[in-house]
Amino acid sequence: MKFYSLNKKAEDVSFKDAVIKGIAPDRGLYFPREIKPLPPAFFENIESLSDHEIASKTIEQFVRDSIPENKLKEIINNVLDFPFPVIELEKNVATLELFHGPTLAFKDVGARFMAQCLGYFSENENSEVTVLVATSGDTGGAVANGFLGVKGVKVVILYPSGKVSDIQERQLTTLGQNITALEVNGTFDDCQNMVKTAFLDPELKSAMQLTSANSINVARWLPQMFYFLFAFKQLKNKKLPIVFSVPSGNFGNICAGMVAQTLGMPVAHFIAATNVNDTVPHFMRTNEYAPKTSKATISNAMDVGDPSNFIRIRNLYKNNFTELKKDLSSYSFTDEETKQAMRSMYSSSNYIADPHGAVGYLGLKEYQKDAPDTYGVFLETAHPVKFLDVVEETLKLHLPIPSQIQKVLKKNKVSIKIDTYQGLKNYLLNR
Ligand SMILES: *Cc1c(COP(=O)(O)O)cnc(C)c1O
Repeated sequence: MKFYSLNKKAEDVSFKDAVIKGIAPDRGLYFPREIKPLPPAFFENIESLSDHEIASKTIEQFVRDSIPENKLKEIINNVLDFPFPVIELEKNVATLELFHGPTLAFKDVGARFMAQCLGYFSENENSEVTVLVATSGDTGGAVANGFLGVKGVKVVILYPSGKVSDIQERQLTTLGQNITALEVNGTFDDCQNMVKTAFLDPELKSAMQLTSANSINVARWLPQMFYFLFAFKQLKNKKLPIVFSVPSGNFGNICAGMVAQTLGMPVAHFIAATNVNDTVPHFMRTNEYAPKTSKATISNAMDVGDPSNFIRIRNLYKNNFTELKKDLSSYSFTDEETKQAMRSMYSSSNYIADPHGAVGYLGLKEYQKDAPDTYGVFLETAHPVKFLDVVEETLKLHLPIPSQIQKVLKKNKVSIKIDTYQGLKNYLLNR
């Protein structure tokens, strides 16, 4: 399968080249040329398949030209070694927990899949690939962990000094091996600008193969389809139409769900739930896309004013707004509403949700007001302990720290401090 640039001014590439390049030379996002639906029997008999088989069969057409079948099996075995349970909280309301991976973030699957692919692609190259990533907290930990020990790939993570939580900082700075953490004296935006500058720097470009590991990379984006299929497998016997509510920031996760629907998975509707960064809810009301600067909220992994993957969703619907509206609704919620939802889930179902999951729950409840005869699943994208302060303060309780986190809390932080872009460049050229 070939991938083309959504800006349409670059050549089609293989899966391998799309992964290595990250973004097309014309700055467009890569998108599959065609998406061939799976046979109906695949969905009818899905409960007879293992998660590994489901994953192989859904992603196979996208990677076939670059990864042989037995290698794909091995990659999937390495990526999927934890559960994705669906838990019913209320009548016709369930949560799909995506936080049982090594860093307790749903990004673990995409980060691990991309790491395994890049590792495989660099096996036969003599040059090493350097992955450069800026993080405001959650992405960095998942990427660092996913790439740890992958041969032929070096990872350099930039994070804003003093602006990530203690747990998040430990997840970035205690791994060693092929992972280096650069502690930037500045904000997340400064980190991101440095990364962007590096990708355009001709001196760096000629000295090394740089790539990024954010959700615009097809190897991070596409494997997120698996979540929706794993949920469908668990819910297939429900008599009602299934709807998914996805807490959304850059809209990569929900877009992958919509690709699963394109493959033929029976889903009645998608709900994109956002915090006050409401560019997409505004678009779904007005058909006008007006990006904004992002506002800080308690669900900070979704503080995005110009969601990079939304263009992929519009493209999936050939920019037909009327058709898109049939499958997608979008609502935005304030921090106060989010906290209220956390309290109400805790008191009525004894369920502790993190702020991102709570936004997903709110979106689902809003949609079901007009569509009560649906079975709703909201995605819980982070373990509540990742957002410890807000959860403990809102629910007035004390959360036990899971063992994965206790382990990193005992390790020593190692970081290199930098102040300016020149600091990053010197590090990359002289390491
Ligand atoms: C990244 C992230 C999201 C948003 O996912 P997108 O694919 O960017 O929409 C939601 N919740 C958590 C906890 C995240 O880390």
